[in-house]
Amino acid sequence: MSGHDDFVFRDLFNHSFDAQWVLSADMHIEHANAAAVSLTGYEVEELVGQPLSLLLPPKIAKSHDTYVAHYHKHGETQGVLGQPRRFEILARDGSLIPIQLKAFRLGGADDERRFGATMVDLRAQVLLEKEQLQTMAQLKRLALIDPLTELWNRRAFDDALDRQCALISRHHSAAALAMIDIDHFKQVNDTYGHAAGDRVLQQLAAHLKKIVRKEDMCARLGGEEFGILMPACDLPSAAIVIERALQRVATDRFDLDDGRTVSISFSAGIAAIETDAVADALVEHADAAMYQAKKNGRARVEMWVPETGAASASA
Ligand code: GH3
Ligand code: MG
Ligand code: MG
Repeated sequence: MSGHDDFVFRDLFNHSFDAQWVLSADMHIEHANAAAVSLTGYEVEELVGQPLSLLLPPKIAKSHDTYVAHYHKHGETQGVLGQPRRFEILARDGSLIPIQLKAFRLGGADDERRFGATMVDLRAQVLLEKEQLQTMAQLKRLALIDPLTELWNRRAFDDALDRQCALISRHHSAAALAMIDIDHFKQVNDTYGHAAGDRVLQQLAAHLKKIVRKEDMCARLGGEEFGILMPACDLPSAAIVIERALQRVATDRFDLDDGRTVSISFSAGIAAIETDAVADALVEHADAAMYQAKKNGRARVEMWVPETGAASASA
């Protein structure tokens, strides 16, 4: 290589968009290009002669030191050299900058203990990834959450029910499903207006979420109908949970925005989720039990009994 080539390569080094480093065998910085200066916030004079660990957060510095010691002792690169790796470096102002690093041996066989490193600034990419994750979360929310009550919607509920059915068939455990329908809700709307009715739906949703167990899934299935999926819960226990919810709802007053309050009740039907259960049939059974509760006078919880194919009073 001619002397002129040295200038060519130095210019190439200095004009790179990515931070480029030449490191000594003991991982001290010998050369840093303009992009390295602008990435880290250090001047060239502050970088040259310093250990590379100057730029590494404590946790990474520690594993880096261990890696370098291992390399010098055993000559093994442990798959690090030549492999692009993502982590954060510590800038002069203390901020952490996400980068992609590729480190490699420099020079020929007689010079193989010097290293080169190139670092790509990932800040813009990380920001974009964050935005994409937020968008995905938002889309998921729109697809699976009921906007009025912020409960799960019918689609989310149906999916969870399918999964629960499959799980029960595999593990032969117990689970239950409850269908809830507000009693005479049309009267609330007719008397106080649709907006007041919406407020009641929101408050009932918040109530249900609080009353049921942590592992239970509450969903608004449509209109003034709610579903509760109760994993690890047999039929009598599910009846107790829903009965308790009914007592709480029936004794509470629900606020309307104008200072008035209203009381409501609901009718509920419960079905046990058993081995080989089919989601559609389960929903039908819980619905039938719920309609039986309406028939039997409302503000009641009824259970679907498979042997008789009829709903029977739980209380
Ligand atoms: P029942 O005891 O037989 O269930 O009587 P109900 O009046 O609750 O039942 P019905 O199915 O006849 O009426 C349900 C009412 O729920 C009809 C509608 O006015 C109201 N409703 C449905 N969706 C909404 C909603 O999103 N907001 C409001 N405010 N009301 C709704
Ligand atoms: Mg209804
Ligand atoms: Mg109703």
